[in-house]
Amino acid sequence: MSTPTAPARLHRLRDFVTAFARLLNEQPDEPRILAEGGALLAALVAQDDWLPDAYALPDAQHYRQYLLHADSAERFSVVSFVWGPGQRTPIHDHTVWGLIGMLRGAEIAQGFARNAQGQFLPQGQEHRLQTGQVEAVSPRIGDVHQVSNAQADQTSISIHVYGANIGAVRRSVYALDGTAKPFISGYSNSQLPNIWDRSKEVCA
Ligand code: FE
Repeated sequence: MSTPTAPARLHRLRDFVTAFARLLNEQPDEPRILAEGGALLAALVAQDDWLPDAYALPDAQHYRQYLLHADSAERFSVVSFVWGPGQRTPIHDHTVWGLIGMLRGAEIAQGFARNAQGQFLPQGQEHRLQTGQVEAVSPRIGDVHQVSNAQADQTSISIHVYGANIGAVRRSVYALDGTAKPFISGYSNSQLPNIWDRSKEVCA
């Protein structure tokens, strides 16, 4: 018989979404969301024992994006991005603030900005996000990038938080010549992890 894997410590995700909602209740400006929300996300990805296996499964062809939680007012959403070996996004935007925390493995990100002719050129250096690190995107600080799994032979997983129900947001993917193609990402899953079964702690 195979050893059953330890139950995911889903309370970490519940505590994270509760703390994030509490932060947004204070109607902070974007720099404060990115700073304080980023610290919450850094604490979440500091431990890799809470993401259920169903939301960590790669696909052979494309990266996957599993919705983990959507705020009831759609002020934010939490998504696990699962990158198979060598998988990458097209150049794309978000249109809202986003936080990216590396849970497992590593990814490579390259920012892009338009030149005077409207073409996209790399902005700054390509950079590597290591396990435990957090970065941010937004229309204010730079919203267009391309991301890939840094590992050629293993799955990587990043946890993303966005300032909207990101799977339903109208946004764009871009060609280097500046051509935009409309894009609504959707999600890879139709069921969510149940973070709200607190019966054990109530019984205790
Ligand atoms: Fe992105």
